[in-house]
Amino acid sequence: MTIAANLGYPRIGPRRELKTALESFWSGKSTEAELLATAEALRAGSRALQQGSGINHVPSTDFTLYDHVLDTACALGVVPDGYGWSGEGPVSLATYFALARGARGTEAEQEAGIRPGATALEMTKWFDTNYHYLVPRLTPETRFQLTRNRWADAVREGLALGTRTRPVLLGPVSFLLLSKAEDVRPLDLLPALLPVYAEVLRGIAEAGATWVQIDEPCLVTDLPPGAEAAYATAYHALAEAAPGLDILLATYFGALRENLPFTAALPVAGLHLDLVRAPDQLADALAAWPADRWLSLGLVDGRNVWRTDLRQALGLAQHAAAGGRGKRLMVAPSCSLLHVPHSLKLETALDPALARRLAFANEKLAEVVALARGLDEGEAAIAPLLKASDAARAEAQRQDPAVAARLGALTPEMAQRRSPYAQRAEAQHARFNLPKLPVTSIGSWPQTAEVRALRARLARGEMTQDAHDAAMEALTAEAVRWQEEIGVDVPVHGEFERNDMVKYFGEQLAGYAFTKHGWVQSYGSRCVAPPIIWGDVSRPHPMTVRWSAFAQSLTKRPMKGMLTGPVTMLNWSFVRDDLPRDVVCRQIALAIRDEVADLEAAGIGMIQIDEPAFREGLPLRESDRAEYLRWAVECFRLSASVVGDATQIHTHMCYSEFNDIIAEIAAMDADVISIETARSDMELLAAFEGFAYPNEIGPGVWDIHSPRVPDAAEMVALLRRAAQRVPAGRLWANPDCGCKTRGWAEVRPAMANLVAAARTLRAEL
Ligand code: GLN
Ligand code: ZN
Repeated sequence: MTIAANLGYPRIGPRRELKTALESFWSGKSTEAELLATAEALRAGSRALQQGSGINHVPSTDFTLYDHVLDTACALGVVPDGYGWSGEGPVSLATYFALARGARGTEAEQEAGIRPGATALEMTKWFDTNYHYLVPRLTPETRFQLTRNRWADAVREGLALGTRTRPVLLGPVSFLLLSKAEDVRPLDLLPALLPVYAEVLRGIAEAGATWVQIDEPCLVTDLPPGAEAAYATAYHALAEAAPGLDILLATYFGALRENLPFTAALPVAGLHLDLVRAPDQLADALAAWPADRWLSLGLVDGRNVWRTDLRQALGLAQHAAAGGRGKRLMVAPSCSLLHVPHSLKLETALDPALARRLAFANEKLAEVVALARGLDEGEAAIAPLLKASDAARAEAQRQDPAVAARLGALTPEMAQRRSPYAQRAEAQHARFNLPKLPVTSIGSWPQTAEVRALRARLARGEMTQDAHDAAMEALTAEAVRWQEEIGVDVPVHGEFERNDMVKYFGEQLAGYAFTKHGWVQSYGSRCVAPPIIWGDVSRPHPMTVRWSAFAQSLTKRPMKGMLTGPVTMLNWSFVRDDLPRDVVCRQIALAIRDEVADLEAAGIGMIQIDEPAFREGLPLRESDRAEYLRWAVECFRLSASVVGDATQIHTHMCYSEFNDIIAEIAAMDADVISIETARSDMELLAAFEGFAYPNEIGPGVWDIHSPRVPDAAEMVALLRRAAQRVPAGRLWANPDCGCKTRGWAEVRPAMANLVAAARTLRAEL
């Protein structure tokens, strides 16, 4: 019998129950016991739901209070000094949350012995997803020990309520490779780590599990030297640790490629493959993987919200079943369902034509079960489901012939400014006549409770659109007046009217849809509800011109218009799967281009096109990156290049890695780029200096992620350092990012200090 399996279920709860419980606990409104009870109820609910759907291998330990990598680190005793862990025994919740969020200065922390000011572990993206994990810190002194066998506990918890679960464990090699190691090569720690993993497996077996899922997603990446040997050592040791326990080695997010031969030689009972991202690897895997061992087919997309093409997936499964393999197959989602929302049932307001094409976590489980059944009992057994799937697939994604025609008529010139930067700079400097180190900001001013209340009242129908707009105009006018008063050279309107930098645009574009409860965990209690791009994208009407023109009418200074770029619009959405991503991105680029043209026509001389998510689309494999970067750069340029020489295009990116993509950043050819640098002490500019970045740069001199207000002297020092790396004539002065999450009490003094700092340095130049 084919096994219907799941690799991981969303943790946040269909109505974000975990978020609510966490935030209530953090603010002292509920107790640890209450938080743990909510968590246990969520786990029981998801187990019951999965079992009820017909899933044979229900995962456990896929749940976490914050992050599964942090859970693993804490269970393995990888807890740095200063967080209140004695070095023995279970890690307290206070320590756990201090590692996740940094010390908050509470009494409970003091009691737990947590160093005041202890910072959170570094957080980084989980492969190419929008989920972020906490990076464990390894040193030569790291001593691994099992502080608590949470996997065995989870197995017992499931069995007590009648479900034999398959615990999920982050594998030892991926754990080490995903950690940050100081003064030690991570893989050198493997021999010390393996006995602890062996102990975990023995405990799992004793608790009554028959299978364990060990995740090694690093197997789909370019591995460092030594990793192949590490995998062999690790899995030989683990296979011996608990002979009665079957190991399913899970890979996802891509193809194994050159790692397939050695992976196939590992002594594990089963191998899971992502056949959504990488269907082509099936043929090689069938040749390499012994037929007497289990193969888990990841046929249902765990990374996107579309319904599975059941007929096609079944075809792949049948192909895998041929040749005597049929008795040892599992069907599963491609990866954990953590990356998709819980359930479509809650979405009552979606266009039915869209809803028919969607599948969230619960619907995907039903697809997994259907495929397993189709494989065992034949197509006839699932005929109605196949028919429904065919019908949904046949329904054309919303198509707009005008968009296709425009895409067909693209010319290379359209992605090319009229003149090279030097010539444009001359025209722009003559037009704007700005001082050296012009002061600007990244776009948003505080989204205060007052601003959010206006939006909420409009949404609830308690306020007319006109009254709402008038209130937003008043806020904008006040912000413009303030910027003039303190001497900001290039003011912004403040983005008060925007709910979110992607949603605001998506809601005005054709081809986008939004869910009500489509929450996906980003990190900890933070969730996002990504828009769904389900049709051809176009811009029916101007989106921002009214606000920018209004703000410009209030001042003689150049008002900077503010747009979200096409690559960011793409990377922060669920994207239709019937068109290549670059085609969808070009559609968005043309829509943004229309807005850029209208802003220019309305007299807006500077236009910023934000691309904070530009890096996020980078493929996992080095060899795939050039292709992505090529079209991503092209799309940005397509959106920007419609303007004349004297119109200044800005872009903004907020992350701290530019070294490997600096040539592409330069190729975007924005007249000005503002970046996040305050925390890196301008070290980041080395990449721009080394590459001789040719255009203007605004390195952030105020870290807006922290409530601390830097004084002018501090910003002068940062600007001076910047001026050592970039000629002062090409430098701007601005914060690291938009100020929407800060309060006016911080923004007012910080911006005034920034103006003072720029003036001080100007006098020296
Ligand atoms: N213009 C946006 C803002 O200021 C940019 C946000 C971002 O970079 N994430 O809020
Ligand atoms: Zn930013």
